[in-house]
Amino acid sequence: MILKKPRIGVFKYSCCAGCEFQLIYFQKYILETLGAADIIYCQMLQSDGIEEGPFDIALIEGAITETWQADQLKKVRKASTHLIAIGTCAVCGGIPAIKNNQNELEVETRVYPDTSALHSIKAHPVEHYVKVDGSVKGCPMGERDLTELVLSLLLKKNPDFLESSVCVECKLKGNICLLVAYNEPCMGPVTNAGCDALCPSYNRACFSCFGPLKDANSAALAAQLLKMGQSPEDIFRRFTEFGQPTIEFQTGANVKK
Ligand code: SF4
Ligand code: SF4
Ligand code: SF4
Repeated sequence: MILKKPRIGVFKYSCCAGCEFQLIYFQKYILETLGAADIIYCQMLQSDGIEEGPFDIALIEGAITETWQADQLKKVRKASTHLIAIGTCAVCGGIPAIKNNQNELEVETRVYPDTSALHSIKAHPVEHYVKVDGSVKGCPMGERDLTELVLSLLLKKNPDFLESSVCVECKLKGNICLLVAYNEPCMGPVTNAGCDALCPSYNRACFSCFGPLKDANSAALAAQLLKMGQSPEDIFRRFTEFGQPTIEFQTGANVKK
């Protein structure tokens, strides 16, 4: 029996393209990965893809920071059976959303001498505009959930993405807690797992690059960080670096007010 290959579209919006690169680089683990799917649209791989689909799966990278992106994203959603956000920018705003806390014109003129061609809007995750069927978190997206995504595509099953905190992975590795033992401002308790507690395993506090854990108690962590001597400004920065538009991290960031 010949199984039909899934038709995949990969769309990039405002970001560094690191997650798309991570997807292509993934072949080093499973050589057959890309051959097992028909990638009909991916600008990093081909210049003449089929932008209009239809797609069995659309993978979306990057935050939405321009209206044309939101318009195209809605079309992609209509043309796709499943739509998956890949990487922190797409999942929760990521680095592009840092600008949401600043004056738009000031941000633009800091980078571009002539801003007349720019039509930038506040940065939002993909889910702000369309229904998302799953998220591969991380900056760049983590290998555990990427493996789960690729295997799920090949086996035609629903992916089972990690939904626990970095602390769970950290404890499973037997690490000494940097927050409790060394007063380090670790964001592990409110950050989604998937990196195998990479930073705490090297004695570095987590800075939340996998974005917020759903329903994380950021208010409690922000209060703890204050008690530990962190300034409100530092706490604000920690909660707005990789998840500014999310309710979870806004709760922590509000400690500044
Ligand atoms: S999540 Fe990180 S690696 Fe991925 S596109 Fe955004 S900035 Fe780049
Ligand atoms: S070091 Fe950080 S990630 Fe590890 S258990 Fe402590 S708070 Fe959690
Ligand atoms: S420990 Fe935190 S900052 Fe380090 S890779 Fe994991 S999520 Fe990112």
